[in-house]
Amino acid sequence: GNAVEKFHLRKAIESQTHRLEEKNRELTRKHDEIQRFYQTVSHELKTPLTSIKEFACILQEGISGDINDEQKEYLQIIKDSCMQMANGVNDLLDITRLETGKLRVELEPNDVGSVIDKVIAAMKVIAKYKSIEITAHIEESLPDVYMDPNRVEQILTNLINNAIKFTDHHGRVYITAEVDLDKSEYVKISVFDNGCGISPKDLENIFDRLYQVNPEQNSNDTCTSLGGLGLGLNICRELVNLHDGKIMVKSLVNKGSEFCFTLPVYDKDTGINSIIQEVNLDTLIKEQAL
Ligand code: ADP
Repeated sequence: GNAVEKFHLRKAIESQTHRLEEKNRELTRKHDEIQRFYQTVSHELKTPLTSIKEFACILQEGISGDINDEQKEYLQIIKDSCMQMANGVNDLLDITRLETGKLRVELEPNDVGSVIDKVIAAMKVIAKYKSIEITAHIEESLPDVYMDPNRVEQILTNLINNAIKFTDHHGRVYITAEVDLDKSEYVKISVFDNGCGISPKDLENIFDRLYQVNPEQNSNDTCTSLGGLGLGLNICRELVNLHDGKIMVKSLVNKGSEFCFTLPVYDKDTGINSIIQEVNLDTLIKEQAL
Protein backbone atom coordinates (compact mmCIF):
# COMPACT_ATOMS: atom_id res chain seq x y z
CA GLY A 1 0.00 0.00 0.00
CA ASN A 2 2.84 2.37 0.91
CA ALA A 3 4.66 1.67 -2.32
CA VAL A 4 1.56 2.45 -4.38
CA GLU A 5 1.00 5.68 -2.43
CA LYS A 6 4.66 6.69 -2.91
CA PHE A 7 4.41 5.96 -6.62
CA HIS A 8 1.33 8.20 -6.96
CA LEU A 9 2.92 10.97 -4.91
CA ARG A 10 6.08 10.87 -7.03
CA LYS A 11 3.95 11.03 -10.18
CA ALA A 12 2.00 14.01 -8.78
CA ILE A 13 5.25 15.85 -7.89
CA GLU A 14 6.72 15.16 -11.32
CA SER A 15 3.65 16.50 -13.06
CA GLN A 16 3.56 19.62 -10.82
CA THR A 17 7.28 20.24 -11.45
CA HIS A 18 6.68 19.93 -15.16
CA ARG A 19 3.81 22.44 -14.99
CA LEU A 20 5.89 24.87 -12.94
CA GLU A 21 8.80 24.63 -15.39
CA GLU A 22 6.43 25.30 -18.26
CA LYS A 23 4.95 28.36 -16.43
CA ASN A 24 8.45 29.59 -15.65
CA ARG A 25 9.45 29.43 -19.32
CA GLU A 26 6.26 31.27 -20.26
CA LEU A 27 6.94 34.01 -17.67
CA THR A 28 10.51 34.45 -18.87
CA ARG A 29 9.24 34.74 -22.45
CA LYS A 30 6.66 37.36 -21.43
CA HIS A 31 9.21 39.24 -19.34
CA ASP A 32 11.64 39.41 -22.29
CA GLU A 33 8.82 40.56 -24.55
CA ILE A 34 7.92 43.39 -22.14
CA GLN A 35 11.57 44.46 -21.93
CA ARG A 36 11.85 44.56 -25.72
CA PHE A 37 8.59 46.52 -25.89
CA TYR A 38 9.87 49.12 -23.36
CA GLN A 39 13.08 49.49 -25.30
CA THR A 40 11.38 49.88 -28.69
CA VAL A 41 8.83 52.38 -27.36
CA SER A 42 11.54 54.42 -25.65
CA HIS A 43 13.68 54.57 -28.79
CA GLU A 44 10.69 55.37 -30.99
CA LEU A 45 9.73 58.26 -28.69
CA LYS A 46 13.24 59.67 -28.43
CA THR A 47 13.71 60.44 -32.13
CA PRO A 48 10.60 62.60 -32.67
CA LEU A 49 11.15 64.28 -29.30
CA THR A 50 14.64 65.34 -30.31
CA SER A 51 13.39 66.87 -33.56
CA ILE A 52 10.53 68.73 -31.82
CA LYS A 53 13.07 70.21 -29.39
CA GLU A 54 15.60 71.08 -32.12
CA PHE A 55 12.99 72.82 -34.29
CA ALA A 56 11.58 74.70 -31.29
CA CYS A 57 15.16 75.96 -30.67
CA ILE A 58 15.54 77.03 -34.31
CA LEU A 59 12.24 78.96 -34.16
CA GLN A 60 13.06 80.49 -30.76
CA GLU A 61 16.46 81.73 -31.91
CA GLY A 62 14.79 83.49 -34.86
CA ILE A 63 16.85 81.53 -37.41
CA SER A 64 13.81 81.00 -39.64
CA GLY A 65 12.34 84.49 -39.17
CA ASP A 66 11.43 87.03 -36.51
CA ILE A 67 9.20 85.99 -33.60
CA ASN A 68 7.67 88.06 -30.81
CA ASP A 69 8.12 87.65 -27.03
CA GLU A 70 4.84 85.81 -26.54
CA GLN A 71 5.80 83.24 -29.20
CA LYS A 72 9.25 82.89 -27.57
CA GLU A 73 7.57 82.12 -24.26
CA TYR A 74 5.34 79.45 -25.82
CA LEU A 75 8.34 77.86 -27.53
CA GLN A 76 10.10 77.72 -24.16
CA ILE A 77 7.10 75.80 -22.78
CA ILE A 78 7.40 73.33 -25.70
CA LYS A 79 11.13 72.90 -24.98
CA ASP A 80 10.57 72.38 -21.23
CA SER A 81 7.86 69.80 -21.91
CA CYS A 82 10.18 67.98 -24.33
CA MET A 83 12.86 67.89 -21.61
CA GLN A 84 10.36 66.45 -19.14
CA MET A 85 9.30 63.75 -21.61
CA ALA A 86 12.91 62.97 -22.55
CA ASN A 87 13.72 62.47 -18.85
CA GLY A 88 10.81 60.04 -18.53
CA VAL A 89 11.93 58.12 -21.62
CA ASN A 90 15.53 57.97 -20.33
CA ASP A 91 14.24 56.63 -17.01
CA LEU A 92 12.33 53.89 -18.85
CA LEU A 93 15.46 52.99 -20.81
CA ASP A 94 17.54 52.84 -17.63
CA ILE A 95 14.98 50.60 -15.95
CA THR A 96 15.14 48.26 -18.96
CA ARG A 97 18.95 48.28 -18.82
CA LEU A 98 18.84 47.51 -15.10
CA GLU A 99 16.45 44.61 -15.69
CA THR A 100 18.56 43.15 -18.46
CA GLY A 101 21.87 43.72 -16.69
CA LYS A 102 23.05 46.17 -19.33
CA LEU A 103 23.38 49.25 -17.17
CA ARG A 104 27.00 49.84 -16.33
CA VAL A 105 29.11 52.46 -14.65
CA GLU A 106 32.75 53.24 -15.32
CA LEU A 107 34.35 54.14 -12.01
CA GLU A 108 37.38 56.41 -12.05
CA PRO A 109 38.94 58.74 -9.49
CA ASN A 110 37.07 62.02 -9.87
CA ASP A 111 36.19 65.28 -8.15
CA VAL A 112 32.55 65.17 -7.04
CA GLY A 113 32.58 68.91 -6.20
CA SER A 114 32.83 69.89 -9.86
CA VAL A 115 29.85 67.65 -10.73
CA ILE A 116 27.82 69.31 -7.94
CA ASP A 117 28.72 72.79 -9.29
CA LYS A 118 27.72 71.74 -12.83
CA VAL A 119 24.33 70.35 -11.75
CA ILE A 120 23.56 73.38 -9.57
CA ALA A 121 24.29 75.74 -12.49
CA ALA A 122 21.82 73.80 -14.66
CA MET A 123 19.14 73.51 -11.96
CA LYS A 124 19.25 77.21 -11.04
CA VAL A 125 17.26 77.95 -14.21
CA ILE A 126 14.39 75.72 -13.04
CA ALA A 127 14.64 76.94 -9.42
CA LYS A 128 14.30 80.54 -10.63
CA TYR A 129 10.75 79.84 -11.88
CA LYS A 130 9.78 79.16 -8.23
CA SER A 131 12.16 81.72 -6.69
CA ILE A 132 13.88 78.88 -4.86
CA GLU A 133 17.39 79.55 -3.62
CA ILE A 134 19.98 76.82 -4.23
CA THR A 135 23.23 76.94 -2.25
CA ALA A 136 26.02 74.47 -1.61
CA HIS A 137 28.82 73.84 0.81
CA ILE A 138 31.59 71.58 -0.45
CA GLU A 139 34.18 70.67 2.16
CA GLU A 140 37.64 72.09 1.46
CA SER A 141 40.18 69.59 0.10
CA LEU A 142 37.51 66.94 -0.40
CA PRO A 143 39.27 63.76 -1.57
CA ASP A 144 38.58 62.28 -5.01
CA VAL A 145 36.00 59.50 -5.13
CA TYR A 146 35.48 56.49 -7.38
CA MET A 147 32.62 57.47 -9.61
CA ASP A 148 31.11 57.66 -13.07
CA PRO A 149 30.62 61.46 -13.45
CA ASN A 150 27.68 61.11 -15.86
CA ARG A 151 25.82 58.77 -13.51
CA VAL A 152 26.55 60.94 -10.44
CA GLU A 153 25.26 63.92 -12.42
CA GLN A 154 22.09 61.90 -13.10
CA ILE A 155 21.64 61.04 -9.39
CA LEU A 156 22.16 64.66 -8.31
CA THR A 157 19.90 66.05 -11.03
CA ASN A 158 17.16 63.70 -9.90
CA LEU A 159 17.48 64.55 -6.21
CA ILE A 160 17.76 68.31 -6.75
CA ASN A 161 14.91 68.26 -9.27
CA ASN A 162 12.71 66.49 -6.69
CA ALA A 163 13.80 68.95 -3.99
CA ILE A 164 12.68 71.87 -6.19
CA LYS A 165 9.51 70.08 -7.31
CA PHE A 166 8.35 69.35 -3.76
CA THR A 167 9.22 72.73 -2.24
CA ASP A 168 6.97 75.79 -2.25
CA HIS A 169 7.84 79.07 -3.94
CA HIS A 170 10.58 81.03 -2.09
CA GLY A 171 11.84 77.84 -0.44
CA ARG A 172 15.43 76.66 -0.02
CA VAL A 173 17.53 73.81 -1.38
CA TYR A 174 20.94 73.20 0.18
CA ILE A 175 23.61 70.73 -0.97
CA THR A 176 26.62 69.58 1.06
CA ALA A 177 29.56 67.30 0.32
CA GLU A 178 31.90 66.12 3.08
CA VAL A 179 33.87 63.11 4.23
CA ASP A 180 31.34 60.85 5.98
CA LEU A 181 31.77 61.30 9.74
CA ASP A 182 30.69 57.70 10.44
CA LYS A 183 32.73 56.05 7.65
CA SER A 184 35.72 58.10 6.59
CA GLU A 185 36.35 55.90 3.53
CA TYR A 186 33.25 57.48 1.97
CA VAL A 187 32.23 60.98 0.90
CA LYS A 188 28.65 61.92 1.78
CA ILE A 189 26.60 64.15 -0.53
CA SER A 190 23.32 65.51 0.89
CA VAL A 191 20.45 67.40 -0.67
CA PHE A 192 18.26 69.27 1.85
CA ASP A 193 15.01 71.06 1.14
CA ASN A 194 12.43 72.81 3.28
CA GLY A 195 9.53 71.47 1.23
CA CYS A 196 6.45 69.38 1.99
CA GLY A 197 8.34 66.40 3.43
CA ILE A 198 7.37 62.71 3.34
CA SER A 199 5.29 60.77 5.89
CA PRO A 200 6.96 57.90 7.83
CA LYS A 201 4.75 55.36 6.00
CA ASP A 202 5.79 56.64 2.56
CA LEU A 203 9.45 56.83 3.60
CA GLU A 204 9.50 53.03 3.91
CA ASN A 205 8.69 52.59 0.22
CA ILE A 206 10.05 55.72 -1.38
CA PHE A 207 12.90 53.93 -3.22
CA ASP A 208 10.61 51.22 -4.63
CA ARG A 209 10.01 51.14 -8.36
CA LEU A 210 6.87 53.05 -9.47
CA TYR A 211 6.17 54.20 -5.89
CA GLN A 212 4.51 57.59 -5.64
CA VAL A 213 2.93 59.25 -2.64
CA ASN A 214 -0.83 58.97 -2.92
CA PRO A 215 -2.04 62.51 -3.75
CA GLU A 216 -5.40 61.91 -2.04
CA GLN A 217 -3.63 61.46 1.29
CA ASN A 218 -1.83 64.72 0.88
CA SER A 219 -3.33 68.07 1.79
CA ASN A 220 -0.33 70.04 0.56
CA ASP A 221 -0.66 71.34 -3.03
CA THR A 222 3.10 71.24 -3.61
CA CYS A 223 3.01 67.46 -3.26
CA THR A 224 0.20 66.74 -5.65
CA SER A 225 -0.41 66.67 -9.42
CA LEU A 226 3.26 66.86 -10.33
CA GLY A 227 3.41 64.04 -12.83
CA GLY A 228 6.54 61.86 -12.88
CA LEU A 229 6.75 58.10 -13.30
CA GLY A 230 7.90 57.08 -9.84
CA LEU A 231 11.14 55.69 -11.28
CA GLY A 232 13.68 58.39 -10.38
CA LEU A 233 14.53 57.36 -6.81
CA ASN A 234 14.61 53.67 -7.72
CA ILE A 235 17.17 54.38 -10.46
CA CYS A 236 19.15 56.59 -8.03
CA ARG A 237 19.34 53.73 -5.53
CA GLU A 238 20.51 51.24 -8.18
CA LEU A 239 23.13 53.69 -9.47
CA VAL A 240 24.42 54.41 -5.95
CA ASN A 241 24.61 50.63 -5.31
CA LEU A 242 26.69 50.23 -8.47
CA HIS A 243 29.10 52.77 -6.95
CA ASP A 244 29.27 50.64 -3.79
CA GLY A 245 27.59 53.49 -1.90
CA LYS A 246 24.38 53.88 0.09
CA ILE A 247 21.40 56.19 -0.33
CA MET A 248 19.32 57.35 2.65
CA VAL A 249 16.47 59.70 3.40
CA LYS A 250 15.22 61.60 6.45
CA SER A 251 12.10 63.68 6.31
CA LEU A 252 9.50 65.50 8.36
CA VAL A 253 6.09 66.35 6.95
CA ASN A 254 5.74 70.09 6.25
CA LYS A 255 9.35 70.70 7.37
CA GLY A 256 11.48 69.22 4.61
CA SER A 257 13.66 66.32 3.51
CA GLU A 258 17.27 65.25 3.37
CA PHE A 259 18.36 62.76 0.72
CA CYS A 260 21.99 61.72 1.02
CA PHE A 261 24.22 59.20 -0.70
CA THR A 262 27.80 58.04 -0.24
CA LEU A 263 30.61 57.40 -2.72
CA PRO A 264 33.87 55.54 -1.94
CA VAL A 265 36.98 57.68 -1.49
CA TYR A 266 39.72 56.96 -4.03
CA ASP A 267 42.53 55.15 -2.27
CA LYS A 268 45.86 56.03 -3.96
CA ASP A 269 47.58 53.05 -2.32
CA THR A 270 45.37 50.35 -3.82
CA GLY A 271 46.68 51.15 -7.27
CA ILE A 272 43.29 50.46 -8.88
CA ASN A 273 42.58 53.18 -11.40
CA SER A 274 39.41 52.12 -13.06
CA ILE A 275 36.62 49.66 -12.37
CA ILE A 276 33.80 48.79 -14.70
CA GLN A 277 30.80 47.61 -12.78
CA GLU A 278 27.61 46.29 -14.24
CA VAL A 279 24.50 44.74 -12.85
CA ASN A 280 24.86 41.08 -13.49
CA LEU A 281 21.50 39.42 -13.05
CA ASP A 282 22.98 35.91 -12.84
CA THR A 283 25.25 36.92 -9.96
CA LEU A 284 22.40 38.72 -8.24
CA ILE A 285 20.12 35.71 -8.52
CA LYS A 286 22.88 33.39 -7.27
CA GLU A 287 23.62 35.71 -4.33
CA GLN A 288 19.96 35.81 -3.42
CA ALA A 289 19.70 32.02 -3.64
CA LEU A 290 22.65 31.70 -1.23
P1 ADP B 1 8.71 60.93 -9.53
O1 ADP B 1 9.42 61.01 -10.85
O2 ADP B 1 7.31 60.45 -9.67
O3 ADP B 1 8.88 62.15 -8.70
P2 ADP B 1 10.60 59.64 -7.74
O4 ADP B 1 11.01 58.22 -7.63
O5 ADP B 1 11.66 60.65 -8.05
O6 ADP B 1 9.41 59.69 -8.78
O7 ADP B 1 9.91 60.06 -6.36
C1 ADP B 1 8.89 59.25 -5.81
C2 ADP B 1 8.02 60.06 -4.87
O8 ADP B 1 8.77 60.45 -3.71
C3 ADP B 1 7.53 61.37 -5.47
O9 ADP B 1 6.37 61.19 -6.23
C4 ADP B 1 7.27 62.21 -4.22
O10 ADP B 1 5.98 61.94 -3.71
C5 ADP B 1 8.30 61.70 -3.23
N1 ADP B 1 9.49 62.60 -3.12
C6 ADP B 1 10.68 62.46 -3.74
N2 ADP B 1 11.53 63.45 -3.38
C7 ADP B 1 10.86 64.24 -2.52
C8 ADP B 1 11.20 65.43 -1.78
N3 ADP B 1 12.40 66.01 -1.88
N4 ADP B 1 10.23 65.97 -0.98
C9 ADP B 1 9.01 65.37 -0.87
N5 ADP B 1 8.64 64.27 -1.53
C10 ADP B 1 9.54 63.69 -2.34
